[in-house]
Amino acid sequence: MEKKTLSGMTLAELENVAYELGMPKYASKQIATWLYTKQIFSISEMSNISKAFREKLEEHYVLGRKQPIKKVKSKDGTVKYLFPTQSGHFVETVYIPTAERATLCVSSQVGCKMGCSFCMTGRQGFQAQLTPADILNQIYSLPEFATLTNIVFMGQGEPLDNIDNVLRTCEIMTAPYGLAWSPKRITVSTVGDLKNLRKFLNESQCNIAISLHFPTSALRAEYMPAEKAWPINKVVEVLKDYDFCNAELQWHEGAKQRRLSFEYIVFAGLNDSHRHRDQLVELLKGLDCRVNLIPFHTIPDSPFTAAPEKRMKEIRDYLTYKGVFSTLRASRGEDIMAACGLLSTKERNKKKLNNYGRKENTRRHYSW
Ligand code: SF4
Repeated sequence: MEKKTLSGMTLAELENVAYELGMPKYASKQIATWLYTKQIFSISEMSNISKAFREKLEEHYVLGRKQPIKKVKSKDGTVKYLFPTQSGHFVETVYIPTAERATLCVSSQVGCKMGCSFCMTGRQGFQAQLTPADILNQIYSLPEFATLTNIVFMGQGEPLDNIDNVLRTCEIMTAPYGLAWSPKRITVSTVGDLKNLRKFLNESQCNIAISLHFPTSALRAEYMPAEKAWPINKVVEVLKDYDFCNAELQWHEGAKQRRLSFEYIVFAGLNDSHRHRDQLVELLKGLDCRVNLIPFHTIPDSPFTAAPEKRMKEIRDYLTYKGVFSTLRASRGEDIMAACGLLSTKERNKKKLNNYGRKENTRRHYSW
């Protein structure tokens, strides 16, 4: 019988584990503390659980912790890690330190089904869903874990296409029995998966970022196939219906509003004109949100080019003048293929790896 994985289980699930193995109910809290507060690497380390029960646990369960098998550091300090998953795949995770914060960009799937034409992960196609154990492992098996201030679900994959596992991860990240983070430190990004957007808004308190990139449905549909299934105007309608401020206050008394942001990669000549910025203002009218302008990072064999920084600043200033608060996102980790839109593990999955992941990829557009 295949062993189940303890890491990634909620407290309710750990209570079931304790019940099934004949352990006292309080053992579930002890296991949660070992998993999420002490972040141990083996069941044998659970020293306040009797040897007999530890052996029973080991008979049926594995812990689920896996160290990264490769690390590459950018000249700007960004670090990209390659983590193995429970199912034998690999995913990339990017650590981005700045003077004020340390952000971790985690993956939610191996590859992605969404097929955005400007994204390396989109080209990779979809290989597998990540489990809560896989997602959490990217966080607490990170060597810099203790320095982290923010988590963004902006790595490989569409998080809302793996909604149950992402919600469960968010629960464990924020619950007192788990990592006890404030939900305001966690942002989940989506192309606007309408199947699951309301569920996410209702069942989580984490921030949400919409990968917008184009200001009209017609233009968006040309480069983002998801637009056909989930039109951006409908996504915006759902967001306008949702009361971000009150929903937040219900969960966290006195806390600031849950943040809604839109990500907008600025391409030269494609979405950076005066007309486009007016369409953007029109689309977002009435929403309390911010727009993050992101430089495009060139991918091989693609027709896209990045808009000049001067143009991006003009758009930022115009949007802010029009009442849509806007920021310019700095480019990080481009030299190690860790920047926005550059993550891909397709070739890696095909290779047989040694323990240190030293087999180099020979195709020029993959960095591993
Ligand atoms: S941009 Fe995001 S949603 Fe689109 S293909 Fe890439 S990972 Fe998937």
